[in-house]
Formats: sequence, C-alpha cells, structure tokens
Amino acid sequence: MPEVIVYAHDRFVDHRPPAGHPERPERFGAAVDGLTAAGLADALEWREPTSAPVEAILGVHDRGHVDHLERVGGQEGVRLDPDTHMSSHSLEAARLAAGAGLDAIDALRAGDGSAAFCLVRPPGHHARPNEAMGFCLYNNIAVAADALTRAGERVAIVDYDAHHGNGTQDIFFDRDDVLFVSLHEYPQYPGTGAGTEVGRDAGLGSTINFPMPSGSTGDAYLEAFDTVVIPSIERFGADWILISAGFDAHRDDPLTNLGLTSGDHAALTRRLADSSSRGRTIAFLEGGYDLDALALSTVGCVGALIGPDTSLDVELEAQSSGGPGREIVAAVRDLHNQLAD
Ligand SMILES: [Zn+2]
Repeated sequence: MPEVIVYAHDRFVDHRPPAGHPERPERFGAAVDGLTAAGLADALEWREPTSAPVEAILGVHDRGHVDHLERVGGQEGVRLDPDTHMSSHSLEAARLAAGAGLDAIDALRAGDGSAAFCLVRPPGHHARPNEAMGFCLYNNIAVAADALTRAGERVAIVDYDAHHGNGTQDIFFDRDDVLFVSLHEYPQYPGTGAGTEVGRDAGLGSTINFPMPSGSTGDAYLEAFDTVVIPSIERFGADWILISAGFDAHRDDPLTNLGLTSGDHAALTRRLADSSSRGRTIAFLEGGYDLDALALSTVGCVGALIGPDTSLDVELEAQSSGGPGREIVAAVRDLHNQLAD
C-alpha cells in the first residue's frame, strides 16, 4: 500500500494570474518535479481530485462569493482584488483544489493510505467567507475541515505558511470543533494574526497565533510545536490534522523574511504526523514562491508524511537555528495557559 496519496491535476497549471505574478503556474511543475527527483515514486500514489460540490463550498463561503466566482468564471483577466486574479480555467482549478481535500478524506477513511498531500493551485488560506483574497479563491483546507466537523470529527489545522491564515481563522473563529494554529511572520501581509487573536465565544482559546519576528529559524518553530502546538492538539483531541503547508517561510523566499529551510519543513511536518494517533493527516499546498525552495520543501514535507526515515535521492538543507522568536513562543504559551485555566 502506498503511504501517501498526492492529489494533483493538470488544471492546476491552467490557473494563470497576470505575467510576473509570484503565484505562477510553474510552481505546480516545480513541486511535481521535486517529488519525482527525490525518488519517492514507490511510496506515493498520484490521484486526480474531483471538483468540490457547491454545497461543500457553501459550508464555509457565503452564497454571494460563490455566485460571484461562478458569474465571472470562464472569463480571461478577471481581477478580484489587487493580488488575486482569474483566467478562463481558474474556476475549474479552484473547484478541483477545494475538492482535493474532500477526496483525501474519503481515501484515508477507506484505508487507501496513511496521509495525503494536496498539490493544488490556487491556494486557499486567505480566502474569507465572503471574498477571495491574497491569491486565494476558495479556502481549500476550510472546506475539508468543515466537511469533517459535519461528520462529528474534531479537526486541528496547523498553518506554517509565512503569512497568517486569516481566511481560515475567520471561518472558524467562534467554533470549538476546529483548533486553528498559525505561525507566520509579523508584521507581514495580511496584517492579522496577533497573539491576542485567540478565538471568540465557544471558540475562545481554539485559535492560537504565533506572530513570529523576521529572521525566525526552525529552532523557534520547533519550540512552539513542542511546548504549545502538539500539547494543544493532544488536549483538543483532534481526530484529523490538516496542514496549511505553505513553503514561503523558507529563507530563500522572495516575498518574506523568515529563516526556515526544507529540513525545517520536514521536521515540522514529522512532528504533526507523529502526533496524529489515528494517522489521518492531510497537507494542502499554500504559498512558496522560490521554485527551488518550493520543490525541496515539498519533498521535505511529503517525505515526512511517508515516515520518519524516508530515504531521499536529494539532500534536504540542514535545520536552521539561532534566529529570534523564542520570546514570542513563550508569550503565546503563557497566554494560552492562562486561557486554559
Ligand atoms: Zn504565504
């Protein structure tokens, strides 16, 4: 049995923002080629996702947002916000990207694999209930999490993309059946994600934000995982762990100023996979704009999902250390310990 199912589709190349846009079609091929070059073929099963049903998308998005994308879908050169665009096949790509997580849920429930990686474009974690934002049309990971909670399952979402997963936070901010954790550069686009954003009403304490300083390295991230993230997931009793796996926290990324490496992305992913006692982990590609860093970090992430001692035909960069960030981690830990008391 293959350990990890990768969901990918040729349509993900056909979502074409304007020339020069960082979230470009070449990202898809770079990630696919990276996995191929790493020699992981025997451990992976490649599947094409199916489109998410509109009803599933409506679980997390307003009817007005869905109707708007349907109305402009098929057109060339649609500008949804200053950063977010659609080409003629973007709507198809977005519905497939939102559907990948739903298919992964079905496959893992059927015992077809131990984990899944949704190699999708467009990304999703900035998409808000009522609008597209930050390169994202539909919130892919939220669609999957919402489907799981409707089946009575408890879901932890961990977002280690360099940007705050504001859309995902908005969708689950007042809910107690989804634990949302984001580690991100701060301040940075989109401006949200302060440590004091902790959820509301029934969801109080179920949103955990780490506003990491520029230059933060993997050791601070691992400390966050070991002292806050993993204990929180275990206390929460997550049945599933969904990962917003953006790789723009890599030190070579052109849009951000964090200091992570592909080795860090492997270590962080491994921590999450280890904490998932029932083996149900699904990662979703979000950002990552340096093609080489994206390819190698994808390999690190997927290799970690396969297992702790996966042999690779490429060499990951060493884990990073020595940067700032530990004080922020300690402050977030103290704040959430107080909330839990
Ligand atoms: Zn990002």
